[in-house]
Amino acid sequence: MDELSRILIVDDERQNIKVLTELLRNDYKIMASKTGEQALSAVFGPNPPDLILLDIMMPEINGYEVCRRLKANSRSRHIPLIFITALDASDDEAKGFELGAVDYITKPFKPIIVKARVRTHIQLKLKTDLIERMASIDGLTDIPNRRNFDVTLEKELRRVARNNSLLSLILMDIDFFKKYNDHYGHAKGDSCLRRVAKALAGCVQRAGDFVARYGGEEFVIILPETDRTEAIGIAEKVRLAVMGLNIEHAASDVADHVSLSLGVTTVSGDQTVSPVDVINEADAALYKAKASGRNCVISG
Ligand code: GH3
Ligand code: MG
Ligand code: MG
Repeated sequence: MDELSRILIVDDERQNIKVLTELLRNDYKIMASKTGEQALSAVFGPNPPDLILLDIMMPEINGYEVCRRLKANSRSRHIPLIFITALDASDDEAKGFELGAVDYITKPFKPIIVKARVRTHIQLKLKTDLIERMASIDGLTDIPNRRNFDVTLEKELRRVARNNSLLSLILMDIDFFKKYNDHYGHAKGDSCLRRVAKALAGCVQRAGDFVARYGGEEFVIILPETDRTEAIGIAEKVRLAVMGLNIEHAASDVADHVSLSLGVTTVSGDQTVSPVDVINEADAALYKAKASGRNCVISG
């Protein structure tokens, strides 16, 4: 079942929160904050809202300031925000839009208008979320796609340079996958890719670890703050996890089951390396793994 979209109502008057909650509670999950500070912690908490209804006149941090802070932060910038306020001068409204609000409703409001505008902006948000998901998640395996990987690697390498830290990359490729498709058919091939992707995602635990489909039957793992020895250990764990899936591969020349060859590389902050350099190094190690018999890990 689809989860309800979450709406955060921010108003210093309990009665206003109550009225809006009554109006929207059947269609949405309602969160409420009585101060700007509470609102900011709700937005940056574990379950951020899909839409914010924000009063302007509040003690301490007012609604404009809450909006300004939310729009200045990349974690909250995308959340649509509607001012709902007793300030009805057109300058106030203009200021609200200038600060990045998507809509402006004046009190006293007509319930049906609030409902309609909320519905419109929630629908837009759901569509935007879907488009963003489709642009960053691989449709077949449901793990991050190549585009997402490129952006993430670039970001992580900048962090390595900035903090003078470490990063390892594992590039891996299914052995004799063309033969797998030829022997079992493309549909079984697809299902195999899905199972392998799931197994890889299950092999990493740390917060920054990132698994993606690099393309075709190739996958990649970014391991921030991970040295070569640790990375080789994780690559070996991945290799065994895929062997452990026991996906029959009668046409493989190296094993009875689907296997992976893996190339590992490690970079540190004292080297200046581009994403292309890191990928090339991992690819060279992967090539060696293929050349030295497949179903193995080589670090380069
Ligand atoms: P090697 O051990 O040297 O890697 O041999 P290989 O056969 O795995 O390598 P090759 O690059 O020759 O073949 C890769 C195969 O992966 C060919 C292609 O049809 C298959 N493949 C790529 N993407 C998909 C996909 O989305 N679904 C399926 N079923 N097969 C795919
Ligand atoms: Mg390949
Ligand atoms: Mg292959």
